[in-house]
Amino acid sequence: MSGYDVDLFVIGAGSGGVRAARIAAGYGARVMVAEEHRIGGTCVIRGCVPKKLYVYASRFAAEFEEAAGFGWSVPEPHFEFAALKAAKDKEIVRLEGAYRANLERSGATLVPGRAVLEGPNAVRLADGSRVTAERILVAVGAHPFVPNAIKGCGLVETSNDIFEWESLPKSVVIAGGGYIAVEFASLLARLGSEVTLVLRADKVLRGFDEDMRNALTAHLPYGGVRIVAGAEIASIDGRVGNIAVNLTTGDAIACERVVYATGRVPNTAGLGLAEAGVEVDAAGAIRVDRASRSTAASVYAVGDVTNRVNLTPVAIREGHAFADTVYGGRPTEVDHSLVPSAVFTTPEIGSVGLTEGQARSRCEVTVYKTNFRPMKATLSGSVDRTLMKIVVEKATDRVLGVHIFGEGAGEMIQCLAIAVRMGATKRDFDMTLAVHPTAAEELVTMRTPWEGGGVT
Ligand code: NDP
Repeated sequence: MSGYDVDLFVIGAGSGGVRAARIAAGYGARVMVAEEHRIGGTCVIRGCVPKKLYVYASRFAAEFEEAAGFGWSVPEPHFEFAALKAAKDKEIVRLEGAYRANLERSGATLVPGRAVLEGPNAVRLADGSRVTAERILVAVGAHPFVPNAIKGCGLVETSNDIFEWESLPKSVVIAGGGYIAVEFASLLARLGSEVTLVLRADKVLRGFDEDMRNALTAHLPYGGVRIVAGAEIASIDGRVGNIAVNLTTGDAIACERVVYATGRVPNTAGLGLAEAGVEVDAAGAIRVDRASRSTAASVYAVGDVTNRVNLTPVAIREGHAFADTVYGGRPTEVDHSLVPSAVFTTPEIGSVGLTEGQARSRCEVTVYKTNFRPMKATLSGSVDRTLMKIVVEKATDRVLGVHIFGEGAGEMIQCLAIAVRMGATKRDFDMTLAVHPTAAEELVTMRTPWEGGGVT
């Protein structure tokens, strides 16, 4: 046993920190965890989980309408945002409790309040006391980034604020075109807000496969999202409830609320990192090696604070690998390639592996694509389409990437990621029998390489 107060001090009880603490405690380490907000972190409290609950809520609107095509008559539906918010809050309280119980059951000690480093082997707690630790794990996550100090920027809200709204604004302007911007634009519009998405680029989701970007940019308006591309917000006037958003194009948009979803930055300010010998990069992220170790030998970091791949399952895997390596005698490195992900717009996107553009810059590729009207849309009258794309290395027949736009894409991509990770070839896909009638069967029945330009 070390001569320190604890073996491991974890700062931050989010996805990465909780997993690391639980596994390390399970290996017999004396673990203490500090959290300044609520247990569960961004994902559980103000990210993935409440977002997905709101996405589910938003999808009913179209379902009620489409039911008529299948013979149902549905009375005029009525939506109460406050009821959704209350139900969401209740579920998050339940989940937070489950996270807390799991942590405590593992033997870790939880301390409320902010902890900051005092050198490489000590932290100062909110009550002023000092705890020494053989190792410190920083898992403090990131927060929304709102750029520059434009006039009226005090009116800007972020995704954190949306989860606190008690009523649905009649109109909202959202700046940004990344995951968060498109997901909230899609769900708020489907719940009934008039949404304008202001993008500085010409289309959404930079970094995604071009066909996915094109499909989502083209389809968001069907769900009620107005897109203003090639514009930025120059200034904001008014007050919440009666705002004028002035664009660089000279246009002005009237709205009740304005939200920025323009990226996230690591929560490293004021944490005592420099004093402890922990270096951060230009973006403020903690520099770590493949074992998540910082430039101070006793300090490690996992999750969004390291700005590697900022997704919950990655933070969890990093936290678990840290505990296995340091306390379990099982050296484990996290493979940050082939991370599948989904964008929960409606329709949604699921992606794994290389985009067509990335693959073409590395090798000769064959591309398979299909674009069809899902069976459900034939009777429902929905304009939704499904687009699937498989990127294959010509020389080896290996599947390098799969990209899906359409209902169920997130669920499909999880399973496809196993095949892609195992090195599946296009022939393996072809040899797999279809499940009929499904949308996913198209993934194993695409026979002819795509030779044209964009998907028609
Ligand atoms: P992203 O980095 O995905 O997107 C940021 C967006 O903001 C881009 O469209 C970017 O435009 C735009 N932007 C940046 N700076 C400015 C500026 N000064 N003025 C105008 N626009 C600007 O960040 P998000 O906030 O959407 O998400 C953060 C992270 O959270 C993601 O990287 C992702 O890892 C994670 N996340 C994952 C989800 C999922 O898996 N479903 C859901 C939500 C979040 P441009 O493209 O022109 O640079």
